[in-house]
Amino acid sequence: MSSSFRADVGDVLANPGSRREITVTGTLEAARDLATVEGPVAAEVLLESTPSGIVATGVVTAQVALICSRCLVPWADEVRERFTHVFSLDPTPDTFPIDGSIIDLEPALRDEVLSAVPVNAIHAPDCRGLCGTCGMNLNNGVCDCDETELSSPFAELKDLFDGP
Ligand SMILES: [Zn+2]
Ligand SMILES: [Zn+2]
Repeated sequence: MSSSFRADVGDVLANPGSRREITVTGTLEAARDLATVEGPVAAEVLLESTPSGIVATGVVTAQVALICSRCLVPWADEVRERFTHVFSLDPTPDTFPIDGSIIDLEPALRDEVLSAVPVNAIHAPDCRGLCGTCGMNLNNGVCDCDETELSSPFAELKDLFDGP
């Protein structure tokens, strides 16, 4: 397990009502669908002490490797997600644990980054995709496939219905 997302929150815990800002940076191994988190993941987090633990509010930024869902070309994007998570000494299903005076932000940041990954991401708004017949990437040019061929099943159906 990576330790770069761990923080000692003993000072904040000891002073209810106090707050402290931290920055954590590290690498996360995480993937979802066609997306893989790569490069450094960074988060700026405000830790606030409450009677039951620590509220961590912040922004996480990560580089994500994606595959265009239309033309299958690899590309990269940056995701940025705001979050609020509660860490408690007596964790519930809705909170993360505090281990002594240490919190580990990694599971929370992993969830946030993966939920921020775009679904069916398209590498450019005007991506032309692949030819359904020959598979050529139509962003690189026009193929020789005859588009009228593609419509022929419908033309035949039309003949059928219009027939005697
Ligand atoms: Zn594309
Ligand atoms: Zn084609």
